[in-house]
Amino acid sequence: MDLRENEQIVQLAQASDAAVRFIGRIRTPWSTRDQCPRQGRIDGPECQIALLPEWHDALDGLEFYQTIEVLYWLDQSRRDLTRQSPRSDGSTVGTFALRSPARPNPIGTSMVRLLRIEGPVLHVQGLDCVDGTPLLDLKPDRCAFTPKAPPQPGDSQTA
Ligand code: SAM
Repeated sequence: MDLRENEQIVQLAQASDAAVRFIGRIRTPWSTRDQCPRQGRIDGPECQIALLPEWHDALDGLEFYQTIEVLYWLDQSRRDLTRQSPRSDGSTVGTFALRSPARPNPIGTSMVRLLRIEGPVLHVQGLDCVDGTPLLDLKPDRCAFTPKAPPQPGDSQTA
């Protein structure tokens, strides 16, 4: 992607400090970034999350949540921007003060409405990514989630 006026980048070495594993693909009605919503809306078009078959068992229990968190890899993003000009007018904002897809690790997150699960395919509303975007992870809505594991000392620590 081209730089806009006053945008700033950093020279990056080849990344070698982590690797993620794509666990599926997201199917949406949008074939280009320009067509996508800036942020998904819970009443937006129905989309599908197609899990790789080997992760099918990992869905067990997710059906009890109406809202789930989806993490995905915004694979068409540049990753070297430190300052960005979202309005293309020369005024800039730091990357970490934005939810722009251009970031060092282009992870997108959306809270989506879970409509139904059919085998390895989840039907949801609330996404904002291009068709075919790689899936990283799925989690229950943290507000509706109660930890299943026993409590730990840190749970009750406060300032
Ligand atoms: N909801 C996520 C978040 O807040 O982390 C993503 C928000 S980001 C502003 C959404 C925009 O990213 C879309 O409007 C589109 O322009 C762009 N986008 C969608 N899919 C993408 C992809 N696979 N790679 C790069 N950019 C993408």
